[in-house]
Amino acid sequence: MPSSSSSVDHGLVNNRMYHPGENKIIQCIKLPNEKIRHNYNDLNSSKITIKVKMSAINYLTDFNNLHSLVIPSFRIIGKLTGGASSIKYLVWPFTNCQVERSHTSTDPISITSNCCCNLTYGVDLNGGFQEFITVPKKLLIPIHKNVSLHDVCFIFDILLPFYINIQKVKGRTLVLLNDIQKEMNEILIILDHFKIKQNNIVILDEVDPKYKDQFDTVFCFNPNLTTFAEFCCTSTGLTSTKQRYTIHTTFPIIAKSIDKSYNYIKLTYEHKLSCIEVLKILFNLNSKRDEARSNLDLKVSSTNNSHSNSTSSSSSISNSHYSWIWYDKDVDLVNHDDFEEDEEDERILDEINQLIIEKKLYRVGYFNRRSKKEINACII
Ligand SMILES: [Zn+2]
Repeated sequence: MPSSSSSVDHGLVNNRMYHPGENKIIQCIKLPNEKIRHNYNDLNSSKITIKVKMSAINYLTDFNNLHSLVIPSFRIIGKLTGGASSIKYLVWPFTNCQVERSHTSTDPISITSNCCCNLTYGVDLNGGFQEFITVPKKLLIPIHKNVSLHDVCFIFDILLPFYINIQKVKGRTLVLLNDIQKEMNEILIILDHFKIKQNNIVILDEVDPKYKDQFDTVFCFNPNLTTFAEFCCTSTGLTSTKQRYTIHTTFPIIAKSIDKSYNYIKLTYEHKLSCIEVLKILFNLNSKRDEARSNLDLKVSSTNNSHSNSTSSSSSISNSHYSWIWYDKDVDLVNHDDFEEDEEDERILDEINQLIIEKKLYRVGYFNRRSKKEINACII
């Protein structure tokens, strides 16, 4: 029996895996020989094992493309094992078989072609709902201390896709969200960064017939509004206008007209640099905010913080980090040394499975915690 709670080299550990047939997360027993070796982290290896500190789920989107039995969550934040360093890393979840070296030279596919299949952690490869994860070192992005881990986890939903494509945009632009109150900041941060005037941009989260044929560019983050996106994007019936009018989506979309372009923004390994740039924007935003705050603290000793600007209306403060991206709540995922029945675990799992079925815009952060329970002595 394991006697130390810091040891994971013995005993059984439970895994939370998504079962696509049942559309729910099930607990699996992880056998000792499947377990991660702690001392994977030698300098010569291209991979590294990190301790997962936090993972997260957006229940509106994250289970839509899961078709295999996999440990879910592509939103993964971890720390190096063994060291005293407090640096946290984002695992860039969009990888490919070359980065992963999963199609080795003995693999006939890589001999015959320049195979470079896209793979995503938490979708094609096991994701963040576990205690440790082994990933290529080049996928790790250090997170600056003043940036909220929640902002990092939910950067992929709107902030990053919008950032990648907004610079290409000309003319009147429409942004279709799922919920303006919750998602507005993600748009405003990017508009503010590029100094884009808001009077050229309309942001909606519901159908409004007055906008027929009004826009050159439509960003649609809401799969239920694709027909409306089509309705609002200028229609000429001419193939010659195809380059001028575009609908951008963060989900697959079927092209319905010949007079406009359809761009499904699918994040890949290549977008890692853009992610680093967006993290830098958040860093600058928080630095400015901290500065303004300390100046304010010097000037007035008021308990009423009245300097908040328009972009911070739906934000929340957590662990002294300022989160710009809205999220609903945090949950502790407890990891046990042994596979054991635990009422709290079951309650959390039931809640997760209920949220998967409901499929609403609901963002939850999951923090990994060790079980604090005493392990029963084994009397022989
Ligand atoms: Zn491949």
